[in-house]
Amino acid sequence: MLCNLQRYATHDGPGIRTVVFLKGCSLSCRWCQNPESCSRSLDLLYDERLCLSGCQRCTRDTTCFKRENTTGAVLIYRDKLTEPEMRLAADACPSGAISLCGEPAEAEQIMKTVLRDKAFYQRSGGGLTISGGEPFMQPKLVLQLLEMARRENIHTAVESCLHVPWHYIEPSVASVDLWLVDLKHTESDKFLEWTNGQLSLIQHNIRRLGEQGANIVFRVPIIPDFNDDEATLRDIVRLAAEHYSQFGGSGEIHFLPYHTYGMHKYHLLGREYLCARQPLERPELLVFAEQQATDCGLTAILRG
Ligand code: SF4
Repeated sequence: MLCNLQRYATHDGPGIRTVVFLKGCSLSCRWCQNPESCSRSLDLLYDERLCLSGCQRCTRDTTCFKRENTTGAVLIYRDKLTEPEMRLAADACPSGAISLCGEPAEAEQIMKTVLRDKAFYQRSGGGLTISGGEPFMQPKLVLQLLEMARRENIHTAVESCLHVPWHYIEPSVASVDLWLVDLKHTESDKFLEWTNGQLSLIQHNIRRLGEQGANIVFRVPIIPDFNDDEATLRDIVRLAAEHYSQFGGSGEIHFLPYHTYGMHKYHLLGREYLCARQPLERPELLVFAEQQATDCGLTAILRG
């Protein structure tokens, strides 16, 4: 299931790239700014600012959309929504207030779009990036896309949290030029509390990638109350430095300061946002993190 596809991207690997976002993630990070990519199934987004509440077309053929009697606003009973009802409502809505996220897509179909910009990849040193969600929630599709890109001599990158069994990842390793891997924390309990995931699984997979000579760039999201303290950032940088000294690789570490650009999407999805509502309050931490990385011999890059 495809979440969306972004052409002319410049932040997810070198050069100009097409980023294929797949749906489904095995973590539930509280700060996630792409909540529409978390589930593997179709999602419905409702934007009340675009709703012409008088029209009520969404209520005609479905039972999960109702008109609120006093205000005329649309009420959505999300727990009862089925895929056919979502599609009916989105088709009926004339204003775009109801939209869907998620499209069943075959590798061949996705590659047709990717190949449209092959000339740009060649001129800029870019290529294909597969992202998510967690792309390896759909390991077969990832492998197919990577192998097709390989046959076309297109550079490949995968952006992953690596929170999946190793056998989902292993078949793809030989076809990936660059791994963009999140390093979010070094303490298992804190990691579990904020992401609902097992840090040991990720650490195991990072080691396996290192053993196979994978070219990794580590990326560190800096999140208020989760890892925005000197001790944690120092530990994360040390972990990255140890990996590079043991297995080699890019020696790069990217810091991604917390932002709230995706917060409104929770509202559109009818979900609660559980993280801070303000951007990072201590920008000096970024200077600290960069200095730590430089002291450990790493190349630090700050991503806006
Ligand atoms: S069909 Fe769209 S515009 Fe009309 S009431 Fe429903 S959500 Fe609003």
